[in-house]
Amino acid sequence: MKRRKYHRNNYHRYYGIYSDMNPLEKKRTSAYRFHKIIICTMFFVLGFCLLACFQMLALPRIQLDGGSVIEIEYKDNYKEPGFVSSYFGKDLTSKVRVQGNVNSSKLGEYPITYQVSYHGFQKTKTRIVKVVDSKKPKITFVNHSKKLYICPKSKYLYDDYVAFDNYDGDITDKVQVKEIGGKMRYTVFDSFGNKTVVERGVFYKDVEAPTLTLDSPTTVMLMVGDDFSDSTYQVEDNCSSKKNIKVTVKGEVDTSKVGEYQRQYIAKDQAGNVTKVVQKVVVMEPVKRGVIYLTFDDGPRSGTTDIILNILKEENVKATFFVTNSGPNDLIKRAYREGHSIGLHTASHDYSVIYSSKENYFNDLKEVSDRVEKLTGEKSMLIRFPGGSSNTISRKYCPGIMSYLTKEVVNRGYRYYDWNVDSRDAEGGRFSADEIASNVTSSLSHDRVNMVLMHDIKVTTKDALRKIIKYGKEHGYTFDKITPYTDMVTQRVNN
Ligand code: ZN
Repeated sequence: MKRRKYHRNNYHRYYGIYSDMNPLEKKRTSAYRFHKIIICTMFFVLGFCLLACFQMLALPRIQLDGGSVIEIEYKDNYKEPGFVSSYFGKDLTSKVRVQGNVNSSKLGEYPITYQVSYHGFQKTKTRIVKVVDSKKPKITFVNHSKKLYICPKSKYLYDDYVAFDNYDGDITDKVQVKEIGGKMRYTVFDSFGNKTVVERGVFYKDVEAPTLTLDSPTTVMLMVGDDFSDSTYQVEDNCSSKKNIKVTVKGEVDTSKVGEYQRQYIAKDQAGNVTKVVQKVVVMEPVKRGVIYLTFDDGPRSGTTDIILNILKEENVKATFFVTNSGPNDLIKRAYREGHSIGLHTASHDYSVIYSSKENYFNDLKEVSDRVEKLTGEKSMLIRFPGGSSNTISRKYCPGIMSYLTKEVVNRGYRYYDWNVDSRDAEGGRFSADEIASNVTSSLSHDRVNMVLMHDIKVTTKDALRKIIKYGKEHGYTFDKITPYTDMVTQRVNN
């Protein structure tokens, strides 16, 4: 084989390229191969670097809502602000493990770590939760929050404010008070330097009214002809001494006339501030011995109440109807129009409801009271308890309720009326009309008030009524209706 001649050019000699080689042969020389290896290696290293970068960029992502540092206030509850995690669009939020606790009752920094793994790639993020005290203390005034009034010619007592801080607690003793140009300035710092300044205008003036307390009850009950004397009282004022408080008493009370009167006690301090206390004086009817009060419960009812009203009209006798929420409105209107008294017997007359609680009783009473007021234009203050105040059935639903109710209705201005003569007309047809009449007439007395219990929903009652009225008239009795000035007739409370 003929030895090849080197090409004169050095470059070609280095690569072992001969001048007589065709281009393809030139490429296959070992030098050329070496050159190729270098280039390949360079590409390989570059590729490796790109892959590493790609891996770094391609870790799962965690994004913290609210940022990587957040502050919460001392003792406020820490609530995770939320986060999202993803890997190339795939939601990994539910795979994130959250670790770390925040004790908000201790100031400090608390790390919370969030970690997620996906196909061997792991990402961790940390959030710092700072528990801080940045809340300002609060200054609160006991009264007069906008302006401070000090009694004329006296000193400020520094006792009408409190300062409280969420971290330090009561810091009232740290409050600095200064009077500057008609203003009182209150400054306080908590132990973290949070500062509060409050100002209020200061006036040397008495704006508070005196207090007046009666030694007698605010409602006084008298009988016609009784003596009435004003209550003694106690007065006090923030600035004026007792002897400098002027009290005047006004309002007419005529004890010779049945009615309700008001006596006003007016106290005035040196600065002219005024307090008014009203005492109610109720002058009651005298006890009418030998009077018969006919009372009808449970109505009204068509077919019985109307006939009873007819008889009362014919006989010119006034009576009292303790109504429920049953029956036609017209009969209540008519009874009122014809001069009878309308009292309250409860709306439902359901023992298990009205006697199961105080609230139930008064809710039910309000219902029937509203009905009567709507129909008559007058608020009735007369009550008859279903079963009477002496009933024992209420014990089953609420022990002690009658003891409470009998006092409470009086406190609320009502008067309640039991009975001392029972017609026994409610006992399920046990008695005839004649027997009902004699149940009443045999119990009447000239030596006392006769409060007669009847029921206008019973057929026999209307038949007995005329006999009772006839007997009463023939035996020197008179008939009357109950008014708010009629003395209460009460039985012994048994529950
Ligand atoms: Zn009843």
